[in-house]
Amino acid sequence: MIHRDDCTDLDAHDPLAHLRERFALPAGVVYLDGNSLGALPSHVSARLHTAVTEEWGRDLIRSWNVNGWADLPYRVGDRLARLIGAPAGSVVCCDSTSVNLFKVVSAALASTDRTVILSDVGNFPTDLYVMSSLAEVRIVESENVIDHITSDVGVVALTHVGFGTGRMHDMAAITQAAHAAGALMVWDLAHSAGAMELDLGDADFAVGCGYKYLNGGPGAPAFVYVRPDRISGFRNPITGWFGHAAPFDFDLSFVPAEGIARARVGTPHVLSLVALDSALDVFDEVDMAEVRKKSVSLTSLFIDLVQQADLGLRLVSPLDPARRGSQVCFAHPDGYSIIQALIERGVIGDFRAPDILRFGFAPLYVSHTDVFDAVRILVDVVSSEVFRDARYSTKNAVT
Ligand SMILES: *Cc1c(COP(=O)(O)O)cnc(C)c1O
Repeated sequence: MIHRDDCTDLDAHDPLAHLRERFALPAGVVYLDGNSLGALPSHVSARLHTAVTEEWGRDLIRSWNVNGWADLPYRVGDRLARLIGAPAGSVVCCDSTSVNLFKVVSAALASTDRTVILSDVGNFPTDLYVMSSLAEVRIVESENVIDHITSDVGVVALTHVGFGTGRMHDMAAITQAAHAAGALMVWDLAHSAGAMELDLGDADFAVGCGYKYLNGGPGAPAFVYVRPDRISGFRNPITGWFGHAAPFDFDLSFVPAEGIARARVGTPHVLSLVALDSALDVFDEVDMAEVRKKSVSLTSLFIDLVQQADLGLRLVSPLDPARRGSQVCFAHPDGYSIIQALIERGVIGDFRAPDILRFGFAPLYVSHTDVFDAVRILVDVVSSEVFRDARYSTKNAVT
């Protein structure tokens, strides 16, 4: 039996516990949806205010130079590089995850004669949709993806941590198998970046999302990684002026930039980039190995507590923490209503069709005590059957 005191104890020994105060979380809320929209670090509001009033309002167009707007995609890219285990100069922050995936998979296909993209059923649908516009996507079960890397597969493109299960692929093993089979490897780190230590190893390309565990705010720009030795041959399918060698020469023909700049397209989303840049301050001096350690501790505690309560929720995420990201999913036929009832009681998770209750544990601001309190409310909602009230079954546009 796990008691609340045990959780308070775990928090007292948590080396990341102090980071919680840096977030503007409302009182009475346990936020378990940082895997979908990261929380707001308090200092970001003032930074954005300055960007709007002083940089945009007062300095106007001069800000591209005097306030560093022009360098933001690279500066943020380098900060992200540290978090995903990539060298400086190999990551640029721009566009959305969907668009960046289109760019890297297209570039990957351009460098091989093979025509098939291999992915899995656990991938995020936008990834599959985007790739289906480029080539045949062969979608296989998430177990043993390696066995499906046949000689016609040109690109293996997977999301490291599956959005609907929290299942985590073995990045090193799959990358190695893809290369051994003559395929290129693309990783989507949308549900990993900011939640764990990462090592891209020999992976050819990667993309990821700025508004989840990285806390960049709604619609924050995404990032794209190109392995350094592949940058000079990288063929961006969207040849926009910011990927040009000299955008402000206004030449009539396209010449790609030398470095990671060639992965860009158009004008950066400055305000969003400023928000993400500022949000990343929280990660300064944070050891990502500690982040992962805490993530495992939180998700394991949550699973233990829910299973101990025996509520009829079926665990969908792997029980083995080594195969699990920073989220835990359970299935229940009334999953949607249960989530709505939880949200009304201040426990914010989300629902993914058809029957998945999804809880994300952002290690920077979720505590063990939060986990305990959330499960207590979950137990209450499920065992009292209060979720059966009709008002919890009204569907919103965004779930
Ligand atoms: C969140 C997420 C996306 C989001 O893509 P957008 O272009 O930002 O809408 C894409 N892929 C995966 C795997 C995600 O988890």
